[in-house]
Amino acid sequence: MIRSFVALDLPDTVRSALAVQQFLLPLPRAVPVENLHLTLVFLGELPDALLEATHEAFCALRLPGVALELSGLGLFGGDRPTSVHAAAVACDPLLRVQRKIATAARRAGVDLPARRFVPHVTLGRFRPPPPEDRMRLERAVAMQGGFRSGPVPVTEFVLYRSTLTRQGSRYDDLARYPMASGG
Ligand code: ATP
Ligand code: MG
Repeated sequence: MIRSFVALDLPDTVRSALAVQQFLLPLPRAVPVENLHLTLVFLGELPDALLEATHEAFCALRLPGVALELSGLGLFGGDRPTSVHAAAVACDPLLRVQRKIATAARRAGVDLPARRFVPHVTLGRFRPPPPEDRMRLERAVAMQGGFRSGPVPVTEFVLYRSTLTRQGSRYDDLARYPMASGG
């Protein structure tokens, strides 16, 4: 079984901008800059043959490139937040690309849960903090709410293997799929 997910790799300019945001937030553990990504479809643990079939389905896709734009920061988890992220603008081209990749995975036989896609880049994950730390984090997120990055063209999507280790997750790219760069 292989744990994998499909994501957009981020251009260096976006990565640097996000590293600055991480620095400005009181994060117990920031996601390492090289690990920052925008998940499109989390495939989870798949048998090798099914992952191979899914890869073939991705190879057959002809998708347009997308203009990736980040706007604002947010917390997931409500009263007990467990992660902070930079939100991506949910523009139609990005939503369409996400839908087509999810559909291709389903047709290949992956049992994906029906779940609304909320495009974002996770900057830090943590256990729900005690009230004082939580307030500090919420204030910092509000302070940086005007954060913007891009739009920047993204012309490929990536299949990553995820290995969970005691030191955190490691991501290795298994395949890269070009998207047409418009025009
Ligand atoms: P860790 O779980 O150790 O905090 P991680 O979340 O980065 O690390 P994975 O759990 O392998 O590593 O997840 C890989 C990517 O897929 C991450 O962007 C994660 O947010 C996303 N992801 C994980 N599980 C799901 C899920 N059930 N639905 C949607 N996205 C998911
Ligand atoms: Mg996880």
